[in-house]
Amino acid sequence: MAVHETYTCQDCGFEFTDGDENFFYNPDTHEIVVFVLLFSTVGISDGSKIKGHIFESYCKHCDKFIKTFYIDTTDCPQYNSEEIIDIVKTGIKNSLKKIKNETITKINEINEIKSRKKYTIEKKPYFMTADTMNHLAELSQEEQEMFLEGKEDIYVNFIELEDCDYRANIQDFDSEKEAIEYCKSQAYRKFVTKINHEILWRRDYLKKELKYIYHVDYWNFKENTDIDTISCPKCGNEVYKFINADYPCPKCEGKLIITHTICAD
Ligand SMILES: [Zn+2]
Ligand SMILES: [Zn+2]
Repeated sequence: MAVHETYTCQDCGFEFTDGDENFFYNPDTHEIVVFVLLFSTVGISDGSKIKGHIFESYCKHCDKFIKTFYIDTTDCPQYNSEEIIDIVKTGIKNSLKKIKNETITKINEINEIKSRKKYTIEKKPYFMTADTMNHLAELSQEEQEMFLEGKEDIYVNFIELEDCDYRANIQDFDSEKEAIEYCKSQAYRKFVTKINHEILWRRDYLKKELKYIYHVDYWNFKENTDIDTISCPKCGNEVYKFINADYPCPKCEGKLIITHTICAD
């Protein structure tokens, strides 16, 4: 189970949500895999000897968050600290490269779908809502036939993306062509919105990853509880090792309080 706590500074409003993340090194792909401990991820790191927990801090000089990978050393006595730190650093670099490449590939793919604008047009029997069906049930056979006569729906569906379709009843328009044009414009609007949303989401995800600088430590928790700071891997300034209510605000030294807690399992 993971606990995500949000800390807010009472003085400057600085806000931070703890990701409660763990990591392990995947020796097949040479990547660091980051995960949150949930029922669905139990055992995910079992095959790896190099693993640990990630703590986040913040450097006000760089205006960047720092993810520190604290390596649990119990399973890897065969490596010395420098070797392990190097493996983890390379693993982080590889996974970032992978995220970047995946983002670029996916965005290109989406833009390609956008440029193809592939859609289908189908004529289908009139779509009846529950209300219409109840109404029909009260009518005689003859009245039902009259009601349904000539009623047909037009479906336009932009394929390759889900939920980019639109349906309308042909009878509501002057001609079938007009119904098609209308459905096409509505479905296309959904299609473009969806594509733009997807691209934005991918970019945001990458941006989120890039707002961090990374710091790797070969660390024994018991022996190091007296050290409160680490040096920023970018500018070298001392920053608090953690962001939580036991430490001052990393931006202004004010008081951090817990403003929100989410438990996920
Ligand atoms: Zn503050
Ligand atoms: Zn810094």
